[in-house]
Amino acid sequence: MSSTPRVSRRDFLKLTAGGFAVGGVVSLVDLQSTHARVQTLKIADAKEYPSVCPYCAVGCGTLISVKNGKVINIEGNPDSFISRGTLCPKGAATFQLTVNPLRSTKALYRKPGATDWEAIDLNTAMDMIAERVKKTREETFVETVKITGADGNEVEKKVNHTLGIFSLGGATMDNEWNYAQLKLMRGLGVAAIENQARI
Ligand code: SF4
Repeated sequence: MSSTPRVSRRDFLKLTAGGFAVGGVVSLVDLQSTHARVQTLKIADAKEYPSVCPYCAVGCGTLISVKNGKVINIEGNPDSFISRGTLCPKGAATFQLTVNPLRSTKALYRKPGATDWEAIDLNTAMDMIAERVKKTREETFVETVKITGADGNEVEKKVNHTLGIFSLGGATMDNEWNYAQLKLMRGLGVAAIENQARI
């Protein structure tokens, strides 16, 4: 008679599931150590500069690795007493703000009535936007408005604003850009200013 032990279908499934689970954990550990190793190799010989995430007032610390005059990596700075090496998703993507081959270098413009978009260079786009802002401001600027005072009488109040322009900031605007944007918009008399602070 054969002495080969019989393995039931249930036993077989239990054994293979355990095997896969152990294999999965081992693979995960391998992947993590491989990732750490690749990261170490990537920034080997690079000069590290402590910096601050540009995006918000939390001021998380970053470490910028530079090799041959090029930024090759940006990650959280473990020495930062504010963030201790951590970054939010937006801060963690700061590298792509600096180095990004997918970044658009042209603007797309569709003329009134046209069906197709045409690529125009950024300077042309900036000039077009500036002309439209100037024109809209001139057409909609209001120096004074009449309001009803507490005594029921109509009074004239100085406002010096335009309600024809609305400024909406995007997620990649950093602190300095937001500061300059606010100064510019307030200077133009724009009252409606908003920004998508972070993700
Ligand atoms: S955007 Fe995120 S990573 Fe950057 S400073 Fe603010 S919280 Fe920190």
